[in-house]
Parts: sequence; structure tokens; C-alpha cells
Amino acid sequence: MRPLNKRNEKLKSSMIREMTILSNQYDAINLAQGFPEFAPPSSLTDRLKELADQPVHQYTPNWGIDSLREEVAKKEGKKQKRSIDPYNEVIITLGSTEAMISSMMALLERGDKVGIFSPYYNSYEANTIITETEAVFIELDPSDFSLDAERLEQALKSGVKVLILCNPNNPCGKVFTLEELKQIAGLVEKYDAYVITDEVYEHIVFEPFCHLGFAGLPGMFERTITCSSFSKTYSITGWRLGYVCGPLRLIQEVRKYHDFFTVCAPGPLQEAALTALRYNDDYYEELRKLYTQKKEAFVQGLDRAGIRHNDPQGTYFVLADISEFGYDSDFAFAKYLVKEYGVAGVPGSCFFENPNSGYIRFHFAKEDDTMREVIERLTRLKQSR
Ligand code: GLN
Repeated sequence: MRPLNKRNEKLKSSMIREMTILSNQYDAINLAQGFPEFAPPSSLTDRLKELADQPVHQYTPNWGIDSLREEVAKKEGKKQKRSIDPYNEVIITLGSTEAMISSMMALLERGDKVGIFSPYYNSYEANTIITETEAVFIELDPSDFSLDAERLEQALKSGVKVLILCNPNNPCGKVFTLEELKQIAGLVEKYDAYVITDEVYEHIVFEPFCHLGFAGLPGMFERTITCSSFSKTYSITGWRLGYVCGPLRLIQEVRKYHDFFTVCAPGPLQEAALTALRYNDDYYEELRKLYTQKKEAFVQGLDRAGIRHNDPQGTYFVLADISEFGYDSDFAFAKYLVKEYGVAGVPGSCFFENPNSGYIRFHFAKEDDTMREVIERLTRLKQSR
């Protein structure tokens, strides 16, 4: 039969999902695909139950129900310190994943260059394959994952049209400072580029670090599409609810892709999510405390086990340094870890240009008992050396 398209060959299935499949196969503890082991807030799931008997089961307006867009506009308005028009500047999407690909489709022409800070969440690279654009990786300073403004300038000078800014960064947990964001903004303006942000971990940030919305910087709203989601903030990764926010000039183009890709996000879930968007500040403070405590427990456990790791400023991921185990391939090490110790992580090469990063990414959105068990297993791994 006639061959399919060449793009398919480049588009590899996500290692995050592959590790999850492997984890299930060996009945391992899955610290690979990042999602909370605990339940969403009960007020949210109670609301979903109530909605089952209400007339919320048909298509919603393409761009999302008005009330939810109003809440998102309020939230983004507060973050960006400006007024956001809910009806023209927000679209409710199928998670941030759809928000990002629809935004890239809208902004990019085949062959355009896309700047991606490295390490990076692997779906951005996949999106460059789908949009037939060129990924230009911009390495963060390997010592602490801070911005290397010179590298960014080089990339922009080489013609990068759209910069992807994941803040806090998955997988390294970097939270960009105001100073760094200003540097990025200055260069983006100088080279007339656009920015698509991914801010899904915006509420999982550890003190003293603080998440700032890039689009709120002077002059940046006009050239930025902010993408975020409700997945991590409300522990509902399976609901697939996210959004894009930006100026109408950009949003009206994103709408076209969103419409033909999805028609709309799920109606009952949009209705239910309103409950969450209306939580007061205490909710976010509790979430921050919960994840701070989980992060501390996990990194202290790794320290006790004698496994080196980075110190994330945000997100629920840690990069563990596996270079001492002497594997040539971090994937081979990840497989060994699942099979022999029943712990699944994601090989770092999935997030770095380097085919053997020397890292494995673990997530710690787990119950305390699960984490204790993981640390015991990793301690045994270390002792077996
Ligand atoms: N964002 C989550 C992660 O990085 C889930 C990704 C996925 O399922 N592909 O683990």
C-alpha cells in the first residue's frame, strides 16, 4: 500500500507514557507520569455528581462556558496585573497540551524556528514535528538551570519566532525570577518574537520562590499566549481542562484550531470546574504547603539513600543523578529500576538533547506511605552497588 506520511516516523510515542506502561507491567510504583495519587477536593467531585442530572451534557460554546472564562479572566488578570476580556481573550481547551499545540499551529509557519529552553517537557518537541517547524534548544545553565541570556540571544538572533517558556519548568523545577523574565522580555522585544508559556505548575512553587506571569511584564501581553490548566492545581489531570489567554489578535487564530480539533472542552467538567476556580486563597496556600512537605520528604529520603538530585523550586518533579550507576543509557537504567526494584521514573534523555542525560525524573505527587516505600527501594538500590 502507499506509504503514510514521513512525519509519523519522527513522532515517537512519549517515553512518559511508555514508562507508565512498563510500570503497570511490572506492578511497580509509578513515579514516571506525573499525576497526583490523592483525590481531588471533595467539593469538586460532589459538584460533578450533582451535575449529572442537570442539562450540561451537550456541546458548550466553542470557546468555553462564559462563567468559566470569566473566572479564568479574573485569575489571569490578577496574575498579569491587567484587565482581561473573558469573551475575547480566553479559550477553555482540552488541557494545556491542546492549548500549546493549538497556539503553535496559530503562530507558526512550516519551517519557522521554535526556541525551547532545555531541559524541556517533551511534548514541545513533538509539537515542532507536528507543525513542521524547527526546534532550537536553548540550554539553561547546567549548574542551577538559571537563564543563560547569551544563549537565548543567539537563538533569537538565528531567527527564532516563537519561544516556549515553561515556568515552573518541567522537568527541572526551575522558577524564573523577575530579573530573568525581564531579560527574556527585553530580548523577545528586540528580536520581535512571540512567547507561548506553559504555566501548569504555577501553584506548586516552594518558598522563597514565587511564580510570575510572563505576559504581565511591560509590552509582553501583545506577544504572549499564556497556557495553563486545572490539572495540577486541582488534582484533576484526567479532566483535560486548560486554557489559553492572550490578545484577541492571537486568540482569534488559536480559536480556529481549537474549534476544528476539539469543538469544545467537556461541558459537565467545565461546569464543575467553576467550583474550583472560586476557591479562596487558603486553598492555594494549603496546596503549596502540601507539596512543600512532599518535596522535603522526598529529597530528604533521597539524601538518606545517598542519591544525588537537583533541588526543585517548583513542580512535583526531582531529577535524580544516576551517573554513578555506570549505565551508558538512562533508558536502560530506568528499565532496570522498574524490573528489579519496582520503581518507575522517566529517563532524562526524554527532556534533554543529550541522548544520555545521566538523570532520571521522579515525581512526588504521592501519598506519604508510597514515598516511604520508594525511598526504601532506592536505598536498597544504592546499597547493592
Ligand atoms: N505532564 C505530566 C508529566 O510530565 C504528564 C505527561 C503525560 O502524560 N504525557 O509527567
